Amino acid sequence: METQAHRAGPERSRQSARAVRMEAAGPACPRLRLEEVRLSVSANSTEARVTLGLGPHRFTGAAAGHHDGSLAWQLAAAATVTAIQRYLQQSRADHPAPRVQLADLATTTTGTGRAVIHATIKLVHGTSETHLLGSALVRNDWCSTAVAAALDATSRRLASLALSPLTLEAEGDEQALASLDRRPAALPSVGRDDRPGPEMAAPSPPASALAHHRSESPAVTLGVEIGAGAIRAAAVDASGRKLAEAHRPGCVAAEPEPTLAVALEAASAAAAALHSSTDGLARVGLAISGRLRAGDGVCVSSHDFPAWREVQLTAPFAQEFHLPVSLIGAADAAALAEVGFGAAKGLSHVLLVRLAREITVAAISEGRPVVLGEVGPGQAGHMVIAADGPRCQCGESGCWQALAGTDSLISRVIRDIGRGVPTALLAAAENRAEAITPELICRLAAGGDALARSALEETGRYLAIGLANLVTLFDPEAILVDSAPSPVGVALRQAAEKAIKTSARGRLFSRCVLLSPALGEAAAVLGAAAWAAHQAAHA
Ligand SMILES: [Zn+2]
Repeated sequence: METQAHRAGPERSRQSARAVRMEAAGPACPRLRLEEVRLSVSANSTEARVTLGLGPHRFTGAAAGHHDGSLAWQLAAAATVTAIQRYLQQSRADHPAPRVQLADLATTTTGTGRAVIHATIKLVHGTSETHLLGSALVRNDWCSTAVAAALDATSRRLASLALSPLTLEAEGDEQALASLDRRPAALPSVGRDDRPGPEMAAPSPPASALAHHRSESPAVTLGVEIGAGAIRAAAVDASGRKLAEAHRPGCVAAEPEPTLAVALEAASAAAAALHSSTDGLARVGLAISGRLRAGDGVCVSSHDFPAWREVQLTAPFAQEFHLPVSLIGAADAAALAEVGFGAAKGLSHVLLVRLAREITVAAISEGRPVVLGEVGPGQAGHMVIAADGPRCQCGESGCWQALAGTDSLISRVIRDIGRGVPTALLAAAENRAEAITPELICRLAAGGDALARSALEETGRYLAIGLANLVTLFDPEAILVDSAPSPVGVALRQAAEKAIKTSARGRLFSRCVLLSPALGEAAAVLGAAAWAAHQAAHA
């Protein structure tokens, strides 16, 4: 795989300096945006300074390296993280403020030869530690892309971390990314050919970029995800920004009516929370997992709602909102959102592989889900990859999901514990086998536990076989490997990558990269809204 050509470690972000105490920003100045990227290049060192703005406040982060100019983009990402840290220190009333660190910076090349920068930001908040992945397609130059990737990653959680007046609006740095992407003037590209010279300042994005972006995409759609664990609704604009949202606990019953009632109520709450009269809704998009006859608005069957058969889903929403209603599979919706606003932004042919007890696959081609019959490639978890493999819940033996689903990871661990292989897993699970989760296994594998690591690697080998089959069938530019919680997905992706690199299958991946999704739980609802917008535009 043509991956990970360059890496920058977290050490640069530790050059972050003193806290800057300022008054907390008020609701009138809510949008964290990119103001400037400035590079200073001298004979033996490079310094990047990145300034973020929030209303009247400015947060500048700097990172310097005694390298040649080719590392300027890595320094730019580190400087961005430092600036974000300053923003957090300023905007939080509680102490200590959350800390952000640049954990990893990597580049990949897509099948069509385009470069993508991925930034992994470590967010430490109290006792919790989260890794956030952001990515951006290199369009103008590497420095601005590295800044965009770092902002993209951090924005995943800024909304929930910021003080209440900032809560919704801190997500607005998606808008900064949008304006960055659209900015025709490239930031100075610093490469080996750049000789020591005067300090170069990049032009700031035009002040009107945001307003312009808004005015050209006024349509707002309502996305609704009907899941067993949760029901989510959000009013979403064309750039993927949630303008209002409502969450409700899941409701699984033999009859669909109670679930639909909760979903309708959540959708109405999100619609009612839209502030301005100009935020009128254009269409509603529903997402649910299972077999669908999308054109008829019918859910034929669903794992999440096992008792449902041939349930008409769209009609109650059409009746309630007097709007056209679209229906899309939940995995298709998540994949669509990642292509529109997330880790696969800008790519055309992408698969999403969702790893849980079952394996679900969604395919996006040219901005549309690929659906053949009622499921598209969604049943790929039941392709047989080892004829004498373990029994799958479908009755067949050796299905991909029986060998690479999250249950198989747990089964391998329990098998090896039974063989007496030493491990810290049992103690970590307080000697209760039922407390061994994929998350725990991945955590201990990362900490060096040999049994956990071996089970993860074995699962990765079977995951890689199925992924190679998908590449053979679909020739995608990227495959998003998804699992919840996201560190499990990242660990399984990395295990598969390792297996791919050391097998003959590696050549199949010369045009395809494996990515981790960036949008988390919000993906399906954003995708349902995006699909509704797409349907509206092509109606
Ligand atoms: Zn099966």
